[in-house]
Amino acid sequence: MPSYATDTILAQGAGQEHDPTGAIVSPIHLATTFLRPVEGDPSTEWSYSRYGYPGLEQPEATLKTLEGAADCRLFSSGMSAMTAVIMALRPGDHCLFPIDMYHGLRTWLQAHSNHWGMRVDHVDMTDPDKVRAAVIPGVTRLVWLETPSNPHWHVYDIASLAGIAHRAGAKLVVDNTVATPILTQPISLGADIVVHSATKYLNGHSDVLAGAALTAADDDFWKRVALNRDYHGGILNQFQAFMLLRGMRTLHLRIARSCESAMALANALQGHPGLTEVFYPGLPTHPGHALASRQMAGGFGGMLSIVVAGGEGEAKRILTRTRLWKPATSLGGVESLIERRGAVEGPCSHVDPGLLRLSVGIEATADLIDDLLAALSPAN
Ligand SMILES: *Cc1c(COP(=O)(O)O)cnc(C)c1O
Repeated sequence: MPSYATDTILAQGAGQEHDPTGAIVSPIHLATTFLRPVEGDPSTEWSYSRYGYPGLEQPEATLKTLEGAADCRLFSSGMSAMTAVIMALRPGDHCLFPIDMYHGLRTWLQAHSNHWGMRVDHVDMTDPDKVRAAVIPGVTRLVWLETPSNPHWHVYDIASLAGIAHRAGAKLVVDNTVATPILTQPISLGADIVVHSATKYLNGHSDVLAGAALTAADDDFWKRVALNRDYHGGILNQFQAFMLLRGMRTLHLRIARSCESAMALANALQGHPGLTEVFYPGLPTHPGHALASRQMAGGFGGMLSIVVAGGEGEAKRILTRTRLWKPATSLGGVESLIERRGAVEGPCSHVDPGLLRLSVGIEATADLIDDLLAALSPAN
């Protein structure tokens, strides 16, 4: 088997088998149960759709190849994948999470860890020394990070944090939703588990809710993660698996365009009198820029945030004035979205109330810049 470039794997879909009709894309099989022709034993690959079904292995194999993983499981949402990983821990286990992270997971984690008897600490992972000081050898089981992190786009050093985690006997989990395997392959840098909200860039069209977990090793921990999907029923459904594979086929093109536009937008916004901050790892002034240049290949991602000088009131006003930038949560779709993150995260948010998070889509770069600059302009 020749080893193909990422673009080729994506366009053709790894593991894509042609069925007897010769159809160029695989059909959707909706059956929940499968014949057991040999004396009633489950002799075929499939038995019951809560465990798997024909059509799931194609998107799983595609993502597995892209991430360089030993195994991949698709879930009904990013949260379903992430909670399946965390619920593979045992009571008393300790884990470390960043301060800047996806707020939905943080909210669930607070409730779950109390109930489950799990110890959770949040540390500033931009400083590996702080992580080194916070791990408890033999007790810490997971170090979890998301890079670039939401919504300040801090960049965390995967290789160095993997070393720290491993020396303490812990696994390193990377939420690779924002970078995607096009820009960063965490397993090649030492990560043990990779998770995704496939709802975002992997699908890319804001019409599928999906998640993924991938592993570097098919070990006991991974078997518990897989068991959680099999028995909690968190498997991705047939139609969404079809849609996800279809979306992924253009991932490389969409990521390239979003990165290019995000970089141009960050340059156009930097120093704007109406803004106090522009957070984007592609800017040389960003504290994580040098690390991002090493760790991300081909671009700095399609996400950036700005802090409006006029605060919350002015940020709200901007949201009513953009035309192309749609005021909505989520990210990674072909259409550009803008949101005031504080409003989404609620009263416990640590985010500046004037912070606007931008998900750069694939529209023409100049149109996106013009639309945002017009909305920022006090003359309008
Ligand atoms: C959206 C998101 C999640 C949650 O995924 P869902 O698919 O919405 O369940 C987790 N992590 C990151 C970084 C996200 O952006």
